[in-house]
Amino acid sequence: MAPGDEEEHVISVFGSANMDLVAYTPVAPGRGETVTGRSFATVPGGKGANQAIAAAKASGAGAAFIGAVGDDAFGPVLRAALADAGVDVSRLREVPGPTGIAHIVVDDDGGNSIIVIPGANGAVTGPTPQDLAVIARSDALMLQLELPMDAVVAAARAATVPVVLTPAPAAELPPELLAAVDLIVPNEHEAAAVTGHDDPGDALEALLELVPEAVITLGDQGARYGSRTGERLRVPAVPVRAVDTTAAGDAFAGALTVARAEGLPVAEALRFAATAAALSVRRAGAGTSMPARAEIDAALR
Ligand code: ADP
Repeated sequence: MAPGDEEEHVISVFGSANMDLVAYTPVAPGRGETVTGRSFATVPGGKGANQAIAAAKASGAGAAFIGAVGDDAFGPVLRAALADAGVDVSRLREVPGPTGIAHIVVDDDGGNSIIVIPGANGAVTGPTPQDLAVIARSDALMLQLELPMDAVVAAARAATVPVVLTPAPAAELPPELLAAVDLIVPNEHEAAAVTGHDDPGDALEALLELVPEAVITLGDQGARYGSRTGERLRVPAVPVRAVDTTAAGDAFAGALTVARAEGLPVAEALRFAATAAALSVRRAGAGTSMPARAEIDAALR
């Protein structure tokens, strides 16, 4: 889309864009160990870009991405991948230096381990007035923790729309950030890191002392939802053969935010999100694995 495009966006995302460098291997190497892998791929990723693509494809009405790429060869590839998925990239800046990368190892069970090198993402400061105008026109703002914490806090505080936070990678959450978050969507490890509780039930209750609504995703065990108004729900995972779970959480969060923005009741929104996430784990890659609205709707019938 052209810079300055005034069209309305359903969801805005302020976050990271990475090029994922993915090695597929029968078994992941242990420390000091070398293994021979099967194949290698470069795939658009970064939790921010993944969530923007997930939201754009789940809504069918686009999404806006606010972030940065470097001036290397990966920058234009990421910009094109976002735009191709229906994401407005008019607020994606190019900064000197390398684009963020994620070095990912995927084993034959679909499990993954990841090293993120922030690059351009580390140069992002708080949202500009133009960024805030885009956010204000959207129905919700999605945040993650792959940008500098000060930038994330500034965006959350300045947002005039509901804020959805995926607290990944797990970090200590400043009180001023938590005060601005409406819905938090950690996986079980992030929920344990934020709350100090390994048990998801205990972690959910602890999260609700910090923010009004929380969803803890539990991989193939589905997810648990709670709100301060007293609602507690469990959503089962949709059984599929897992090929690559790399961005399951981003698929879930993007689809959930779209469904909430469309006004679906919570239980239906959770089912929509679990379906989108299950479809994403059936395919390799992060940004490339996000299902389109028609696929999600077909799987729900
Ligand atoms: P993350 O990718 O952030 O670690 P999870 O692994 O908890 O997040 O997955 C997020 C959601 O994706 C889960 O709540 C579930 O709905 C779905 N999901 C994850 N793994 C599978 C799987 N193997 N089969 C079906 N759905 C899955």
